[in-house]
This record gives sequence, structure tokens and C-alpha cells, in this order.
Amino acid sequence: MAYVNEHYLKLAAGYLFPEIARRVTAFAADRPELAKEIIRCGIGDVTEPLPASAIRAMCGAYEELANRATFKGYGPGTGYESVRAAIAEGDFRARGLAIADDEIFLSDGSKGDCGNILEILGSGNRIAVTDPVYPAYVDANVMFGNTGAAIVGGGYEGMTYLPCTAENGFLAEVPSADAPAPDIIYLCSPNNPTGTVMDRARAEAWIAYAHKHRALIFWDAAYEAYNRDPNAPKSIYEIEGAHDCAIEFRSFSKSGGFTGVRCGYTVLPKRVMAYTRAGTAVALHPLWTRRWNTRSNGVSYTVQRGAEALYTAEGKREVRALVDFYMENARILREGCERLGLKTWGGEHAPYVWCATPAGHDSWGFFEHLLRNARVVTTPGAGFGRCGEGYFRISAFNSRANVEEVVRRLARV
Ligand code: PLP
Repeated sequence: MAYVNEHYLKLAAGYLFPEIARRVTAFAADRPELAKEIIRCGIGDVTEPLPASAIRAMCGAYEELANRATFKGYGPGTGYESVRAAIAEGDFRARGLAIADDEIFLSDGSKGDCGNILEILGSGNRIAVTDPVYPAYVDANVMFGNTGAAIVGGGYEGMTYLPCTAENGFLAEVPSADAPAPDIIYLCSPNNPTGTVMDRARAEAWIAYAHKHRALIFWDAAYEAYNRDPNAPKSIYEIEGAHDCAIEFRSFSKSGGFTGVRCGYTVLPKRVMAYTRAGTAVALHPLWTRRWNTRSNGVSYTVQRGAEALYTAEGKREVRALVDFYMENARILREGCERLGLKTWGGEHAPYVWCATPAGHDSWGFFEHLLRNARVVTTPGAGFGRCGEGYFRISAFNSRANVEEVVRRLARV
């Protein structure tokens, strides 16, 4: 008899974005004459073409595959050396952060990494996530058995939720001394969904907390390219002590427009430790290396060449221009919402604008209201956690024309 992983059966309802898609499809079926007017600012998917340097590098890589002399078969499971070197140099050493080439692990994107990393950690870790939160962290931990059952009204038993509210500026605070200490803490800056960035002092407090409790920080920097706040670390390794207790997740999805191409990486410094039940410290780096070499043959050669090209002078200029484009969208959306009297957060160092719903509307109610009356798809804050109730998220990943049209339509509803 084959047994099922019963942890999967605990997963509450649908994942947020399929639920949004279901509602949009239902609306389109109900009002087919309005379907083509729908503007999607819900899911955070990029819209603009890839940087030309990445396209050229990938085409060049395909040419190599067409020749016996330059053909490539299986590559290293953790990524080609030159690509790891370009990343370690470009994203870390050039900024004065000591990260070795072999501390970079290439992957097909950070959504997978945020869950897959749990494989090298023991069962029974107490996990902390922010509320609201990027849902993939939570669902991955449910699947791995790191939580209990779903709680009616939102959340899972056994999971620690760090409330992020208007009062704390939507930034996670370290738990009080009398609260049970989590073993693993997911932090995301710039944040999805709230668009806020964590300041240096708060990041330092988290690293100190991790040291004190021998906990790990999972620092999701998928939106790092949008962070231009000099007071907010772009990498957790800017914080002293992070090399011992933090794993960083990065993605080319929102910097190089790779959502469809698929490439990201984890940074796992050799000094990062976790503990056996007997209390022996074990370095995670060899385990993560082993995991990759056993469970994968790595990221496509052509994709890695495309990612590497983003670190050339031209690639960097193109990434900057792409990010500037979405940031201008974010500014238009943020200012448009503010002109309408909506209270907003984010959208300055992140491609998401987080807005309070107008009085009298809850999250899903306002989602439906905007869908039906403005034909604009947003993301209801409640879909990201209980503390997201009363808010909605607008994604700046869209064409300029659509973003301007969204602002006009919001003014009319
Ligand atoms: N982390 C956060 C916070 C995200 O919002 C996303 C994607 O939207 C990801 C990770 C996943 O990125 P990737 O496309 O690299 O899997």
C-alpha cells in the first residue's frame, strides 16, 4: 500500500493566486463583453521583454549546443563556476561583502528554494513568518510537516506569526523575551506583499535574536533590485554576524524579468550552522551542496548564460532601466491611490503598493468591487494572512498604459 503525505491534506483552500484566477474567470464568464477590459495587477508577474544582453547570451549558448566542439551536457548541480563567480563578485564582493563563489547555489527560482531548503533541516523546527506573508513559505512548511492543522479564520497551528500592522510600519519585530523562540524565521525585504523595506537597526535586532537563540534567518531578497533606501540593507550579509546564521534567497525574476526563464540562487555561507538533537553544530553548506548534487542536475546551461549576462556592464544598465520602469509604475500607482485618499505603504523601494481598503470594504469585498466596477484585478490583503485584512496590494508589473488606465479607473469607482 502506498501512503500519501498527509501534511498536504492540511493545506487550507486554494493557493491565493489560483483563487484570484478562479474569481476573474467567473467574472469574465458572467460578463464576457467586459472580459477584454480586465487589467491584471494581482499576481506579481513582469510584463516587459528581457534585457537584450540576456537574450544574446542565451542565443549564443544555443549556438554552442549546436556544435560538437562547444556542446554542453550535464553541468555542475550547483551552477557553472563562471556564473557563481559573476554573482558572488557582482552582488556581494563588489559591495564589500565577503561571499565566496562556492557559497552561491544556482536554482530555477527562489520560490522553490524557500521550501527546498527545509530538506536539510530537521523536522520539528518552529517556523516564524510575518503576517501578512508571501504564501509560498507557509504552504511549503505545511507540506514538510512543520505545522499542525489549519485554523478556522486563517493560519496554521504550530506556526509563529509575526504581526505586521500599520502600527509597526508593516515591519516584523523580534518576539518578546517570554514568547517561545522560533528556530527559523522567514524575513522578506523589500517585502511582498507590503512593499516595505526593513531598516538596518531592525535587521541587526533580528541577527542578534538569531544568535541568542541559535536560530536561522531566511532572508528573501527577491526584490533587492528595487531597494534604493540607503538605510535598508540590500543583503542580510551587510549586517555583522549574519554570515553565521542567515541564508539569503535571490531571484532574477524581478530584476532581469526572468519569471518565465526561471533562475535564482541561494547564498549559504560556510559558517552557517544548525544543530543535532544532541546539540552538535553542523555546517549546512556541505548538506546543501549534497542536496543539489543528489536531487538535481542543475539549471539549464542557456539560462545560466542569460543570468550571467546580467552582470556585464551592459546587462547591469539594462536591469537598472527595467527596474526604473517598474518603479515609475509604482510611483504612478502610489501617488494615484494617495490622491484618491487611500492610505498607502510601499511602492518606493518595491514594486508593490499596499493600500488600506476604503471604509466599509473588507479585502475580498473590495477585490470584487474593483473587479466588477473597474475591471482591475488586485490582490486582497486577507489572502496573505489575517493581518492583511483591510488592505489590498497593487502590483506595478504592467505596461505604462495599463498603469495609467488603472489610476483613471480607480478614480471612477
Ligand atoms: N519570494 C518572493 C517574496 C516573491 O514574491 C517571489 C515571486 O513572486 C518569489 C520569491 C519567487 O520568485 P521566483 O520567480 O524566483 O521563483
